[in-house]
Amino acid sequence: MSSTAQISSASPDRVAELRESLAEVKARVQKASASSQAATLVAVSKLKPASDIAACYELGQRDFGENYVQELEEKAAELQMPDIRWHFIGTLQSNKAKILASIPNIYAIQTVTSAKTATALNKHVPLNRASPLNVLLQVNTSGEDNKSGVPPLSPGHPNAEAELTQLALRIIKDCPRLHLQGLMTIGALTESLASGEHENHDFVALKQTRDLLQEILQTEFPAESGRWGVDGRLLLSMGMSSDFEAALKAGSDIVRVGTSIFGTRPKKVAAVTSS
Ligand SMILES: *Cc1c(COP(=O)(O)O)cnc(C)c1O
Repeated sequence: MSSTAQISSASPDRVAELRESLAEVKARVQKASASSQAATLVAVSKLKPASDIAACYELGQRDFGENYVQELEEKAAELQMPDIRWHFIGTLQSNKAKILASIPNIYAIQTVTSAKTATALNKHVPLNRASPLNVLLQVNTSGEDNKSGVPPLSPGHPNAEAELTQLALRIIKDCPRLHLQGLMTIGALTESLASGEHENHDFVALKQTRDLLQEILQTEFPAESGRWGVDGRLLLSMGMSSDFEAALKAGSDIVRVGTSIFGTRPKKVAAVTSS
């Protein structure tokens, strides 16, 4: 019997549907991945039932992304597989840091944008956690008001003084229970960009920001110190259902795909949006 046997299970039709969509997305990720090592596929399961997640887990998927703290808390309590990896990708408020840092199998917080939140997360990582909690800094590459994130870096600017650099250094120096794993962006999306006709400005900007930030970090904390990144590199989390192949071609390490795996989502009702 599997460990998920007690979870209310998806219907055979739904399992067949998920098997097909997951296999297709995985194949597309593999094909578009720049290096021979396929990028990490985070299956974005927000507003989808726990039974969908359990079905994908049974099909071999391990990384899942959620946007709402309360929803993640409930799903993580229901789905306690020892090797499931939860990624928080929603808007993060520092008053939710304690709940978030304590969620079983929380693997990464991809949406850190302030020292206040980082400090709160660091403080609340449980003492018995085996490894530091991964964090990614969200960068607002498109500069849109409706997207959160710190401004990107650009060549020729005093980047050592930039908010992003200061935040990264603060985490490395003062947050020993966090591990700065990389950078994340959502980015603007237009149809021509999604179809890959043009180079996506946001993907280029995030990669450039990463390269500039690494150069600065390197001077204080050599990559070999293991204080940031993975194998001496900050990872890039960029690409969603409509543009993940373009993102992978632009060098993404982590793609966050919801609709292409689970289908369209119900609208989130306003009353619980803040949770
Ligand atoms: C919802 C969401 C996704 C997934 O979007 P799809 O278009 O359904 O693939 C990815 N990243 C973030 C930050 C999201 O909020």
